[in-house]
Amino acid sequence: MFVMLSRGLSRCHDVCLAATMFVSLPRCLSRCHKDSINSLERRDQVIIFRLRAHHAPVNAHLNRIQPMTFPVCHFCDAPYETTTHLLFQCTSLQDLREEYLPPRPDAWNTLYSNSQQLKKTSTFYSQMSSRRAKVQTTAGSDE
Ligand SMILES: [Zn+2]
Repeated sequence: MFVMLSRGLSRCHDVCLAATMFVSLPRCLSRCHKDSINSLERRDQVIIFRLRAHHAPVNAHLNRIQPMTFPVCHFCDAPYETTTHLLFQCTSLQDLREEYLPPRPDAWNTLYSNSQQLKKTSTFYSQMSSRRAKVQTTAGSDE
């Protein structure tokens, strides 16, 4: 039995969010209700899953696999380009954030929301990746 709170979260989800957000919440979702990720196209499912698991090919993650890759953000001076940084913090992506993410984005309302928002989050990631590739190409042409 779950009590709906003012933000639309059940007590169960609050417990999961208070624990480890990206490990416990998927288990909670499968136990509590259907996960909207299942209604997405395969391509969007992969993007959302990777973002949830922090296994998207961003520099901080790539640095752990291949130390020759610097962990810094492509867009700003942040020392670590993580999924959290790109989704919620990087000031260079504020325009994409305003277009595709909720007004006050967090892990819950961007990665565990309804299918429409998950699709928008996937589009945010695709647009960011495209912009990131252009930054890499531009940086490479200076040499
Ligand atoms: Zn940044």
